[in-house]
Amino acid sequence: MPTAPSLRHALLDDTAAALGRDYLQQLVNSLARHSGAQLVFISQQLPLPVRHVAVMVASSHRHPGRYALAGTPCEQVISRQQAIVHSSGVNRHFAAEQDTAWQSFAGWPLLDKHGHCMGHLALFDERANLLPDTLLQDIAPFVTRAAAELQRLEHERISSSRASWDALHSHFLRQYIQGQPLPTLLGDVVGHIEQALPGWLCSILQVDDTQCLRPLVGPSLPQAYTALIDGLAIGPMVGSCGAAAWHRKRLVAEDLQQHPNWAPYREQARQFALGSCWSEPIIDSKGKVHGTFAVYHHAPSAPTLEAITVIEDTARLLAVLMENDANRQALDSRTQWYQAILQNAADALSIIDMEGCLLEASDSLCKLLGYSQAELRQLRLWDLVAHRSEAELREQLQYTSEQGETFDSYNRTKDGDIIEVEVCVRRLMLDGQPVIWGSARDISLRKQQERQLREQATIDSLTGLYNRPTLLGQLDALLASPSRPGLALLMLDLDHFKQVNDSYGHACGDATLAHIASQLRQLLGPQDCAGRLGGEEFCILLPGTTPQAAQRYSQRLLDTIAQQPLQFTGQTIALTASIGLALLEPGDDSRSLLARADMALYQAKHQGRNRMVMLPP
Ligand code: GH3
Ligand code: MG
Ligand code: MG
Repeated sequence: MPTAPSLRHALLDDTAAALGRDYLQQLVNSLARHSGAQLVFISQQLPLPVRHVAVMVASSHRHPGRYALAGTPCEQVISRQQAIVHSSGVNRHFAAEQDTAWQSFAGWPLLDKHGHCMGHLALFDERANLLPDTLLQDIAPFVTRAAAELQRLEHERISSSRASWDALHSHFLRQYIQGQPLPTLLGDVVGHIEQALPGWLCSILQVDDTQCLRPLVGPSLPQAYTALIDGLAIGPMVGSCGAAAWHRKRLVAEDLQQHPNWAPYREQARQFALGSCWSEPIIDSKGKVHGTFAVYHHAPSAPTLEAITVIEDTARLLAVLMENDANRQALDSRTQWYQAILQNAADALSIIDMEGCLLEASDSLCKLLGYSQAELRQLRLWDLVAHRSEAELREQLQYTSEQGETFDSYNRTKDGDIIEVEVCVRRLMLDGQPVIWGSARDISLRKQQERQLREQATIDSLTGLYNRPTLLGQLDALLASPSRPGLALLMLDLDHFKQVNDSYGHACGDATLAHIASQLRQLLGPQDCAGRLGGEEFCILLPGTTPQAAQRYSQRLLDTIAQQPLQFTGQTIALTASIGLALLEPGDDSRSLLARADMALYQAKHQGRNRMVMLPP
C-alpha cells in the first residue's frame, strides 16, 4: 500500500484526463492497482426491487453484479450514508447463504447534491488488515468527484431518455392527427413503455360517465384481473386507480399487501402476483378526469424520480389524446347532425360567405332552384336573386345581424323562372370568418293564394268588377280625400233583366252581366272605377268630372249597351239599361249621394227606361 500522498498522486495521475463513466472506471482500476485490493467497484442503487444495488464499473470480473444489500457491509454504507472500513472478518457480515472469503472492506456512499445516496464505492480483499485507517480521508476527494460524475451521468441519462420520450410522444400525436384510432394508439403507447422499461405492467383505465372504471389497455395484466376492475366505481379508498381518479392525484401503492386502499383486494393481488401499483390520473386541459394510467410490478416497488417523470408525461400525453378524441367524437356527431339537417330540411338552407359564394347548400335548395350541388358552388348570391343588384346584395350581406331577419325576396331558378321566397338570414362565425346562414322557403303558392283571397274579397267573380263593399270603400276614400274633386256617381240597372233570365235561362243572364261589365270597363277612364252592387245593378264613380262630361259619359254607355247587343249561343239579345246620375254637392256623404242616384234611377225607369236621369241637387 503506498503512502497517502503517493496514493493521491497516483490516483490523480491515472484519472486526470478522464470524464464520466471513464473517470469511474479509471478510478476503480487505479484504486485497485495502488491499494492492492482484489476488488474495487462502484455501484448504483436500484430502486427496484427495494434495497438492491447494481455494480456499474469494477476493477475485476469477481464483482457480484446485481445484489441485495441486506446482510452486507454495503448496506450500512448506504443506509447510514457513512464511509466504513473493516480490517477483517468482512465475510461474517454477509448472510449465511453468501459464500465469501472477503476479510477487508472499505466503502463510501456516493451522495448527490441533495444528500441522496446514489450508490457506493467499495473495496474488498481476502486479506485482513490490508487497508490503512487513513484511507477514508485519502480517498475522500475522489469519492466527491465520483459522486459528481455519477450524478452528471444520471442527468445525462435522464435528459436523453426524456428527449426520447418527447420524441415518442410527438410521434403518437402525429399518428393521432393522421387519423390513427385512439384504441390502437393507446395500445401502442403502452407497448412502447413496456418494451423500454422491462418489468412495467401498464394499464389504461377510462372513467366512464357513471364514474366507473373501464379497462382500455393492459396487455401484460392477467385478463381475469382486468375483468375484476371493469365497472368498479371510483372512490377515495378504491385501490390505486379508483382513488387516483377520485382524488385527482397520483396514488402510489408500493406494496399492495400493506397499502390500506388494497385491503379488500389483497387476495387478488396475491393471486395475480401483483406487488405494487402506481396510478396517475389522466386529467385534460379543462380539468376533466378521463381515466388513469397505472404501472404494476410483480414485486413491491417504489418509483424512482425518473419513473414518476415517465408516468406523469405519459398521463399528459394520454390526456391530450383522450381530450382530443372526445372533442373529435363530439364534432363528428355534431357534423353528422348538421349534415342531416342540411340534407333533410324542408326549407332550402345555405351558408354564404361575404363574397356571395355558397359554402354549403342543402339538397332542398338544389331542388328549389334546379341546380346541382356542384353548379351551385360555382354561383354567387347575385346569380340567384332576382330584382336586386350585386351592390345591394353585398351591402345586405355586410349588414346582416347576428339576431337575424326575415323578408320576402325573389329567386331566379336555373330555368329562368322567378319564384317568390321567404328568406331568413343570420350572421354566424365559421372557422373564424363571418358567414351568412340563410334559409329560404318557396312562397309562390302561398302568395298566389293570398292574391286570390284578396281578389275574392274585393272583386265580383262574375263580372271582374269591384264588389259592393270594395266599391263603397272606394267611394268613402274619394269623399274623405281633402281635395274632394268633382265626383259623379252613376247607378245603372238593366231594363227587364228578369225577362232575359226567363226567356234564355240563368246562364244567359250571367253572360249578360259579364257582357255589360266588359262594355262598362271599356269606357272607364284611368281614374274611374266601377262595381257591381248586386243583381244587375252597377255603380260607376267618375272623379274629377263635370256635370256635362258625366252626362255625356252616361249617354255613351247607354248607347253602347243598346247598340252592341249580346251574342249568346247564336242568338242576338238586345239590351238596354237605365242610369240614375248624382253629382257630389257640398254637404253630401256617401249615403245621401247614393240615395240621390237611386232616386234618379227610379225616375229613369219610371220615365220609360233606356235613359239617364240626373236630379237637381
Ligand atoms: P226593371 O227594368 O224594372 O229593372 O226590370 P227587371 O226585370 O230588371 O227587374 P229587377 O231589377 O227587379 O230584376 C232583377 C232580376 O235580376 C231578378 C233576378 O232574377 C235577376 N238576377 C239578380 N242577380 C242575378 C244574377 O246574378 N244572375 C242572373 N242570371 N240573374 C240575376
Ligand atoms: Mg232591372
Ligand atoms: Mg234591378
